[in-house]
Amino acid sequence: MKLLSAIVPCYNEEETVADFYTEFIKNEDYFKTHDIAFEILYINDGSKDRTVEEIKKLHEKDERVHLVSFSRNFGKEAAMLAGFQHAKGDYVVTMDVDLQDPPSMLPEMFSYLEQGYDSVATRRVTRKGEPVIRSFFARLFYKLMNRISNTEIVDGARDYRLMTRQVVDSILSMPEYNRFTKGIYGWVGFETKWIEFENVERLKGETKWNFWKLFLYSIEGITAFSTAPLAIASVLGVLFCFLAFLFIIVIVVRTLLFGDPTSGWPSMMCIVALISGVQLFCLGIVGQYMSKTYLEVKKRPIYLVKETL
Ligand code: UDP
Ligand code: MG
Repeated sequence: MKLLSAIVPCYNEEETVADFYTEFIKNEDYFKTHDIAFEILYINDGSKDRTVEEIKKLHEKDERVHLVSFSRNFGKEAAMLAGFQHAKGDYVVTMDVDLQDPPSMLPEMFSYLEQGYDSVATRRVTRKGEPVIRSFFARLFYKLMNRISNTEIVDGARDYRLMTRQVVDSILSMPEYNRFTKGIYGWVGFETKWIEFENVERLKGETKWNFWKLFLYSIEGITAFSTAPLAIASVLGVLFCFLAFLFIIVIVVRTLLFGDPTSGWPSMMCIVALISGVQLFCLGIVGQYMSKTYLEVKKRPIYLVKETL
C-alpha cells in the first residue's frame, strides 16, 4: 500500500474547502483498485474567515483529513513548503482548493508515474476567463524568464503537480527563504511529464491575486532564478561610460575649433536626467538582490504554525 499526500493551501476559502473534499473523494475507487491510501493536508494560510472550522468539521468526519494552521498569512509559497514538510506520502500532489486543479485528473497523472516518470505537471493551454491584460503580462513574463534563466519555467504551468518522494526530498533540500516554487520544480529536474488542460474557472469565492501582487511575485521569480538583470546593469554602465567618453572628445574638439558660446543647456539637462535615471535604475536592481540576500541571511522561519490536526 502506498500513501498519497494531497497538499492544499487555503486562504479565506470557507466556501470551497468542503467542495474540494467531495470532489477529491470521487477518486476513492481508483485509489482502492491501485492500492493507494491518501491523506489530505489542508494548510490554512492565516484565513480570517471560517476556513479552519470547515476543515475541522471534515477532520471529525474523516481522519484522513489533516490541518496545519499558520499564525498569520505567509503566502502560498510558504503554505506549499509547510505541506511538503508535513506530508508523509510516497507520492505528493499540490493542488488549489478552488477546484481550478481538477482532482479528476489524478488517475491520468498516476498512469504516467507508473510509466516511470518522476513527476507529472500540468499546464493550462487557455487562459479563458482571465483579464486580457493579465494574460498578456503573464505571457511576457514567461518569455522573458526563459530568456534570462537557465531554469526551465513553462508558460501556463500550474502548481498542480504529482511527484514521487524522491522529488519532494529534493525540493526540501532547497532551504531558501525567497521561494518561487515553479522555478524550484524546474531546478531540481527529474523526468517530468507535462499534461495540458483547458483553464477551469474558480468554483466559488475570489482570486487572492491582484495585478500588483502578481507583479511583485514575478520580480521574486526573476531575482530568485536569474542574475541577468545584474549583468544588464553592468552593460548599461559600460555603454554610458563609452558614450560619455565620445561626448568629451567631441566637446573638446568643438570648443577648440569654434570657441565656447554658452549654448546647449537643454541638451545638457536631458543627458544628465537620462544618465541619472539609468543609474538609479541599476542601483534599484542591485538593491533588489541585496534585499533578497538580507532576508536570506536573517534566516527567519518561512512560516509559523499555530495548530495542527
Ligand atoms: N492561497 C494561499 N495563500 C495566499 C493566497 C492564496 O494559500 O496568500 C491559496 C488559495 O487559497 C488557493 C491557491 O492558493 O487554494 C490559489 O489561489 P487563487 O485561486 O486565489 O489564485 P489563482 O488561481 O487566481 O491564481
Ligand atoms: Mg484559483
